Amino acid sequence: IQSKLPNVGTTIFTVMSQLAMRQGAVNLGQGFPDFEGPRELFDALARHVREGRNQYAPMTGVPKLREQIALKTEKLYGRRIDADSDITVTSGATEALFAAFAAVVRSGDEVILLDPCYDSYAPAVELNGGLCVRIPLRLPDFSVDWQRVRDAVTPRTRIILINSPHNPSGAVLHRADMDALADIVRDTGILVISDEVYEHMVFDGVPHYSVLGHDELASRSFVISSFGKTYHCTGWKVGYCVAPPALSAEFRKVHQYLTFCTFNAAQCAIADVLESIPQHYLELPAFYQAKRDHFRSLLAGSRFQLLDVPGGYFQLVDYSAISELDDLAFCEWLVAEHKVAAIPLSPFYETAPDARLVRLCFAKNEATLADAAERLKAV
Ligand code: PMP
Ligand code: GLN
Repeated sequence: IQSKLPNVGTTIFTVMSQLAMRQGAVNLGQGFPDFEGPRELFDALARHVREGRNQYAPMTGVPKLREQIALKTEKLYGRRIDADSDITVTSGATEALFAAFAAVVRSGDEVILLDPCYDSYAPAVELNGGLCVRIPLRLPDFSVDWQRVRDAVTPRTRIILINSPHNPSGAVLHRADMDALADIVRDTGILVISDEVYEHMVFDGVPHYSVLGHDELASRSFVISSFGKTYHCTGWKVGYCVAPPALSAEFRKVHQYLTFCTFNAAQCAIADVLESIPQHYLELPAFYQAKRDHFRSLLAGSRFQLLDVPGGYFQLVDYSAISELDDLAFCEWLVAEHKVAAIPLSPFYETAPDARLVRLCFAKNEATLADAAERLKAV
């Protein structure tokens, strides 16, 4: 068979998790917490299952969940959105990203991605006939060079994708970035996809700057988030997309044939905890900031150089004082010799820079972080 994705193999997250398992390593590779979400969430899930919410959910999502998302959006980002026309619940952010691309990308359209970027974007663009135009972020802070973005715009540009907090670097976008993006797309037909799955993980007192807080951008954006991140349940795959009615209508045409709906009882349970324990997501920045700071202090005596982490749940480390290996070879060596799984950065790039960086996930309990840090200090 002639592959539609000849350059795609198995994702680096699966590859490294399998290696971690085979090597009996501490897995700081694939991004997922090794601790549980709130007990209230599990109690609610069990109750909804027992009460019989086991058939299809409404196609656009459980109404109470959409209402709670609208309330949260208004409370945090100051925008009142319509729960019926603007919000669609999806099977994780991954489905939402795919559906957004499929809804608007036509054959030959260009999509601007900022490298390094999450690995599902480019294949989703290409399967829908689009062409990826990849602009590197600036090292070492992974900031956006908006002039380069502007220079990359052509009459075929259909979408600019942004991701804040950023996977893999943890960089966050600020108001000035949003204004720069708005300047570029004003008076064009360019749409924005804003991947905000780490919206509740921004540190040091800085607020998350959502596209939903920016009137001009919100009117032309698909804003995507994931309860997998917010409630430490990546395996539930419940996410959502917020977009103006005309964009949501097109989005839903895809979603209804991609998955139709997602796990009914889980949607009901998430709606319950959004309402009953809003402190959970309000306290997440402090929760993850403490993990970040703890992990950084544990690594202080190591030969890894730690990059700044303004958001997200990943620590980038520079290993150039340790090895000349390229990042994939270094991760293979690290997991085999020191029993710690990390993620190389090169799979997030079209053309990786000459840097020696790998990603470590700190969404782990104390014991896991301490164990990993001991091993990393021995490197
Ligand atoms: N976008 C980014 C930036 C991510 O890191 C992830 C999850 N690792 C996703 C999207 C996908 O989220 P979900 O698991 O909800 O599909
Ligand atoms: N988003 C997670 C990460 O960046 C992985 C998700 C996946 O394995 N598909 O590690």
